[in-house]
Amino acid sequence: MTDTLFSKIIRREIPADIVYEDDLCLAFRDITPQAPVHILVIPKKPIPKLADATPEDCELLGHLLLTVKEIAASEGLTNGYRTVINTGNDGGQTVYHLHVHLLGGRSLSWPPG
Ligand code: AMP
Repeated sequence: MTDTLFSKIIRREIPADIVYEDDLCLAFRDITPQAPVHILVIPKKPIPKLADATPEDCELLGHLLLTVKEIAASEGLTNGYRTVINTGNDGGQTVYHLHVHLLGGRSLSWPPG
């Protein structure tokens, strides 16, 4: 599997505004925020994209979503927020290390482009 810039962030080889870390995941602010709060939550395990996850990742994927919920609460997103997982070319994925976008702090339109 090829190394991505998110693996480098996990290893602290490139800087990031990290807001949360535990044994399984890391969360940091997106460098190009699309909302007042835009945080990426990533597993430390380098799964390239959601389509590559396996049943063995079941607990990890649940942990990512519960972590998003905790971060949203700590960021004060009491009026709601959006979670996005872009997958592959058609999904608009640009970094091939699975990540959940947490977006909030403004009203978000639907559908996405
Ligand atoms: P995606 O397009 O779903 O693969 O999302 C990748 C996200 O990573 C984009 O929203 C980028 O703005 C963000 N990003 C790229 N490089 C960095 C970085 N060095 N630190 C934080 N976020 C980044």
